[in-house]
Amino acid sequence: MTDDLISSAIDEAAEALLQRPNHHWVVAFSGGKDSTAALKVILAAHRKSGLGKLRLSVIYCDTGVENPILDLYVKSALNRLQQEFDQWGLGFATTLLQAPVQDRFFVRIVGRGYPPPTNSFRWCTNGLRIRPVSRFIAAQDPAQTVLVLGLRQSESQQRDRSLKKASFSKWQKQTEGNKDYDLYLPILNLGVPEVWDAVFWLSKPRSIDPATLEKLYRDASGECPVIKAPTAPPCASGRFGCWTCTVVRKDKSAKKLIDAGYEDLRPYFEFRNWLAEIRNDPSMRWPTRRNGTPGLGPFTLEARKMILQRIDALEVRTRTEIVDSSERGVIAGLWEVDEFARLNFKGISAV
Ligand code: SF4
Repeated sequence: MTDDLISSAIDEAAEALLQRPNHHWVVAFSGGKDSTAALKVILAAHRKSGLGKLRLSVIYCDTGVENPILDLYVKSALNRLQQEFDQWGLGFATTLLQAPVQDRFFVRIVGRGYPPPTNSFRWCTNGLRIRPVSRFIAAQDPAQTVLVLGLRQSESQQRDRSLKKASFSKWQKQTEGNKDYDLYLPILNLGVPEVWDAVFWLSKPRSIDPATLEKLYRDASGECPVIKAPTAPPCASGRFGCWTCTVVRKDKSAKKLIDAGYEDLRPYFEFRNWLAEIRNDPSMRWPTRRNGTPGLGPFTLEARKMILQRIDALEVRTRTEIVDSSERGVIAGLWEVDEFARLNFKGISAV
């Protein structure tokens, strides 16, 4: 049964490739089990199709605040994958995408004073994950592009309901600006056991080690979305994402990794918990929003400075760079603007 499902996923994907052999096939890769299975199915399908050279890119969206253990795993896997692709000589490539500096997580929080995201104010997914992918697609010829996603029908009950309504098929249309492009969902019909079978038993690429993947991602369900779509799963509970994520009340995935011996994650985990705690402290926030309406506004300049000091301490503790010099430059500029407004428009928070 499992074999049948995986074989038919490969057969259908081979047919899909043969239908669009001159398109640019772009696989959105997060490092998790679903996008790994999707990549493996597409590569197996490519071998089966008999197509030689094909324009195929594997893209990874680097938010700058990915869980550091997983980020290290994914980036080294991508490095090895590029070397493997080079050996194959088929024109396949890997690409790292990143949000522009003004959209980065800590530029928004420390520079502009955005409160850490919640379910009702999730300002981060668009800027950090969706827009970099949109920009990449827009820079291609969208009409000649297929974006491959590791979405599955059985991912969650909630999603199942919306999928039924939308009568999902493996081919979908997505709009970028005023242009349409194709989405292809090769593992749509696979359940979790088949996904793991595909990860373990499809041999290529060899640069992704299934055992490491299983150790790191065993408990993650689903992956953060990289496109705007009603059926895309929300970027929150049960999945690995940013180590800073305050959308989930408790970061269970980081806690599980720490309990499993990844002690290096603890300082990040503690910082994230502190960020979640101060989020709703009125003494840390402007009394009005930026547009002047009543309600808690951005973090005060003092609070933003305090957050940056904590980040500096975290950088020392973890011996890593969390906010880079370009981000620090933009943050300093944003502080100046707010400081100027405070001095010149006393009592007016909106700038
Ligand atoms: S993982 Fe959390 S912080 Fe990161 S983009 Fe998704 S919702 Fe935002």
